Amino acid sequence: MHVQRPRGTSDILPGSVERWQELERVAREVFARYGYREIRTPVFEHTEVFERGVGETTDIVQKEMYTFTDRAGRSVTLRPEGTAGVIRAFVENKLYGQTGVAKLYYIGPMFRYEKPQKGRERQFHQYGCEVLGSDGPAIDAEVIALNVDTLTNFGLRGLVVELNSVGCPDCRPRHRERMLEALRPYAAELCDDCRSRLEKNPLRIFDCKRGCPAVLERAGAPTVLKSLCEACETHLSGVRAHLDALGVPYVINERLVRGLDYYTRTAWEVTSAGFGTVGGGGRYNRLVAELGGPDVPGIGFAVGMERAILLRQEQAGQDGAADRQAGLDVFVAVADSSAELPAARLLQALRQVGLVADRDYQGRGLKAQFKLADRMRARYAAVLGESEVTRGVVTVKDLTTGAQTELPVDRAAAELARVAGQSSGERKEQA
Ligand code: ATP
Ligand code: MG
Repeated sequence: MHVQRPRGTSDILPGSVERWQELERVAREVFARYGYREIRTPVFEHTEVFERGVGETTDIVQKEMYTFTDRAGRSVTLRPEGTAGVIRAFVENKLYGQTGVAKLYYIGPMFRYEKPQKGRERQFHQYGCEVLGSDGPAIDAEVIALNVDTLTNFGLRGLVVELNSVGCPDCRPRHRERMLEALRPYAAELCDDCRSRLEKNPLRIFDCKRGCPAVLERAGAPTVLKSLCEACETHLSGVRAHLDALGVPYVINERLVRGLDYYTRTAWEVTSAGFGTVGGGGRYNRLVAELGGPDVPGIGFAVGMERAILLRQEQAGQDGAADRQAGLDVFVAVADSSAELPAARLLQALRQVGLVADRDYQGRGLKAQFKLADRMRARYAAVLGESEVTRGVVTVKDLTTGAQTELPVDRAAAELARVAGQSSGERKEQA
């Protein structure tokens, strides 16, 4: 039988997984610095969570969801994004009862039924955050800064923040009227999806990938930015002033709208020239109420991790060069079958004092074991043969210098931990 992985999924193998671990580590570190704590929600939810939380007029809900009926006949969906589940959990666990804002972050797989291509998979990964309980603008700027900071700490350069305001329930109806007025004569030129969006949520046409944005141009359809109410104008100026204060450069892109239905005011993307979008976010002041909670404002972003890693590889020009496994502290070599159990005991002791230690498991001769130690980039070899076992010692060879000593076997682990710690300290000082 020859079984392959499902289309649009990938196996992240040793050699590449180190990049992922690094991105995850950096993200966690930066989130912690800004006062965020992790939340882990289920990978599947009742389908309504996404229908309500992402929005009926979005591409995600209309055509990208992995939805199925479980054995009890309920409709469940693999999460296509992180926000809806986090808000559902925020409401369900009454996190709004606590003082201050809730600052939550997540890292994990997301699922969308899309046409797979470079940087677009059916199972992909995002890290992101949500802040609940403040309507900004200080928090808007902070979340944008955080979005960029996670990426620059991962080593990405030349990122651009594109910023827009998509208005609020006060100014959007007015904008919608003006947009409809301009677009009605051009309705026939819109794709099927956008024609049906026209009445429900014409703003989404700006995000269409089938040429409808060009129709908007021809029709002279106004952007929301030009129709903002006074409160939204003030909010946007506040966000800009805070971004300037934080030293986060940005450009205004009045055509930017984001994929979800419930965005209000601030929307942004982090892009890289010639590459596209790495991540983005927005404010959603009505989403918590939409999911059955109190009227709490929120804001958040998501970063596509495949894209962040791809961009870093492009910038480093290393085209997926595999990372080497970190070397061993000690390789335990068995020179005689009588040393088998003492060697197993020593290996266990080495690992328990915190050293990275390994051995051969395939019955190699001593010479081949040293070759293996070399391939594993071991710093020391600890050799146990008949003579060592009878005398209660172990021969320790420094594989860099070739120097050789004997240590009492029951003190060897502690002694090696001491010298290994010392020389790694020296190496750090030299670096
Ligand atoms: P796109 O316009 O590329 O379809 P989107 O607006 O659907 O993106 P969001 O829902 O905003 O994307 O998700 C945030 C980020 O997640 C994107 O900027 C991108 O980096 C990443 N992303 C989205 N869909 C995929 C996918 N199918 N495979 C890999 N990464 C993805
Ligand atoms: Mg998409």
